[in-house]
Amino acid sequence: MTPESRAPLFAPIRSLPGVTPERERQLERLGLARASDLLFFFPRDYRPRPRFTRIADLEFDVEQMTYGRLAEFRTSNFSRGAVANAVFEDDAGDRLRAVWFNMPSWMFRQFQLDRRALITAKPGKDKRGRLQISHPALVWLDDDDDLPFDGVENVATPALEAPPEDDTLFPVYPLTEGLKQYQIHRLMKEILETLPDLVDDVFPDEYREAHNLLPIAEALRKIHLPKDEAEAELARRRFIYQEFLLLQLALAIRRQQHEVNLQAPAIRPAEDILLRLRRLVPYELTGAQTRVIREITADMTRPVPMNRLLQGDVGSGKTIVAAAAILQAVAEGYQAVIMAPTEILARQHLRFLTRLFESMPIEIVPFLGGQKPKTRQEILEKIESGAASIVVGTQAIIYANVRFRKLGLVVIDEQHKFGVRQRAQLKTGTGADPHYLVMTATPIPRSMTMTVFGDLDISILDQLPPGRQPIRTYVVTQEKKERWWAFFRRKIEEGRQGYVVVPRVDETDEGLKDVESVFGELSAGPLAGLRLGIVHGRMTPEEKDRIMADFRSREIEVLIATSVIEVGVDVPNATLISIENANMFGLAQLHQLRGRIGRGKYPGFCGVLLGDETEEAPLGQGTLPAIASGRPRNAPEARLKIFADSSDGFFLAEKDFEMRGPGDLFGTEQHGLCRFHIADILRDRKILEEARADAALMIRSDPGLAADNHRLLRDQVLRRYGLALNLGDVG
Ligand code: ADP
Ligand code: MG
Repeated sequence: MTPESRAPLFAPIRSLPGVTPERERQLERLGLARASDLLFFFPRDYRPRPRFTRIADLEFDVEQMTYGRLAEFRTSNFSRGAVANAVFEDDAGDRLRAVWFNMPSWMFRQFQLDRRALITAKPGKDKRGRLQISHPALVWLDDDDDLPFDGVENVATPALEAPPEDDTLFPVYPLTEGLKQYQIHRLMKEILETLPDLVDDVFPDEYREAHNLLPIAEALRKIHLPKDEAEAELARRRFIYQEFLLLQLALAIRRQQHEVNLQAPAIRPAEDILLRLRRLVPYELTGAQTRVIREITADMTRPVPMNRLLQGDVGSGKTIVAAAAILQAVAEGYQAVIMAPTEILARQHLRFLTRLFESMPIEIVPFLGGQKPKTRQEILEKIESGAASIVVGTQAIIYANVRFRKLGLVVIDEQHKFGVRQRAQLKTGTGADPHYLVMTATPIPRSMTMTVFGDLDISILDQLPPGRQPIRTYVVTQEKKERWWAFFRRKIEEGRQGYVVVPRVDETDEGLKDVESVFGELSAGPLAGLRLGIVHGRMTPEEKDRIMADFRSREIEVLIATSVIEVGVDVPNATLISIENANMFGLAQLHQLRGRIGRGKYPGFCGVLLGDETEEAPLGQGTLPAIASGRPRNAPEARLKIFADSSDGFFLAEKDFEMRGPGDLFGTEQHGLCRFHIADILRDRKILEEARADAALMIRSDPGLAADNHRLLRDQVLRRYGLALNLGDVG
């Protein structure tokens, strides 16, 4: 198709018939500027088209649409809200009574006598047996709405004239204030006639046929005006598939480029790595650990950078797996670095690795905050000269411009807050990239590993070490608080230790205020006389380290903390955890917190305390009053109950994901890989799997999508993901 003949697609919306400046502004608020935007503005739902009936012909108990002008209206206010009575009258003089109960009075702002409305409702009967409607859906018609009121059939679908089949569905679009469904319908009707034929189809005919995809023009017409559910579904399928395919192609290209362009040292696995490791730890490795170590060591022998995500629930023993990879690198003369999200955790790794490798001539250096300039300088020199084999620290290493002598492996622990695009730029000293191992305890739903994390290889530790103690979880409501703290206290007096976690309400003070007030309450109340300690984000690394050491040595019995303890901290004697205002945490995060206990030989107990309901994050502002007030008051409690009843991290992550969406769960909102126009990675999983497999095949046979019949696809892939995935010049 020539550029000129496609010009109408790019026409500004204001050039469409009937688009006033006001309408144009409304459409702009929906992100619609050109005709093509409108064409790709899809319905969010479909409803059966209600039958249109004159008031005189309305039937009892069947949903119908009718028309009338407001002839009478009055409201009475009661404490529970307003009760309103209205009478609508049509041109034939027939009258219909309507009632509303318990509504906020602003609902009735638009009710003006003589105003015309389309009325949709299922009539019931009043006390005297007359037809009456309650809570009808109204579309007020403005004076300038030139609807063809002479033919009632047309009123039902002012813009979309009665189609030949009368079972056509009624598309429902997302709207903005002041805009009405039928106004969008009218515009759609205008553009659907000719514009769809101007859109190029990215899919070759044979491809479409083989994959059950509608041609683009047909799909566009049917997604807006389907005959029935099945037709709508088929049209949606085409667009969902296309969206997923584009991302999967981009990810496959990125993988491909990675294989071709990037180099890493091929690090042979010393044959006895597993044997040596076994001698170093007092326990047997689990089957899952052995399998995952094999996957990792095999990756590291290839001259291409490993890009592997290790997923394992809290306590599944990821650290020793990382140690195996580190040992392999170090044994072959390469350096390794392990980074943790917090200083506390970095120090724990430092201690663990130092002890693990104490019989070997391996120098391990810390790279942590608060180091004196002189110490820091010595450490940097050791890293540069290669005297230091292992560097342990936080991600500050990435920004510190550290020069390595021969860096072979980077391990990033407890990573859940970023995708994998930002591979650190480290000066490896080898002229090649290092191998990457990213570890996370956040169970990542498969749909996520296929999208946001789609360019990683995945290893899963799906087995906990034997002998783990069960953890019992209680939802502690206001009335049960006293009993919970009495129980908590008794366990401490029996010799156990515990955590009290306080969510950070105010980002700016890093939880200081809240932690201190909880400390005050507990030390003066239920935990008086016990040895309590505090750890929060404002402390210096040394202070935090001292507190953690005191906790490990039982100098401190109860540690009151912000969610800094969320990740990785491992103190086996701590068997209690009490989480304040637990409704402020996501389920996956609660699961992480709970993972701090039940690590030793005693069973664990977790109490999730319900805070003030007002502190729960507000749900979508601007929801309908009926919905807002209909929200069960005990929603936070129900959510925490889900948590208390499950110890399955994957299940909880899926739930979280359903309730809060992927961005929130992984902090991946910013790179937009998951921002789809119509696809939904949870609902459309099947199509996602399909597109993933198809993309892999396509890239295998045509790596740069250079073939003529792939050109349009390639253009779209680059336009959509070229920057985000740094695809450069493909092909
Ligand atoms: P996470 O996966 O949460 O990082 P860790 O690596 O901290 O888990 O391991 C949790 C605890 O389990 C540690 O105390 C560790 O020593 C222990 N552990 C790891 N692997 C095994 C195993 N195979 N058998 C027994 N205990 C193990
Ligand atoms: Mg860990």
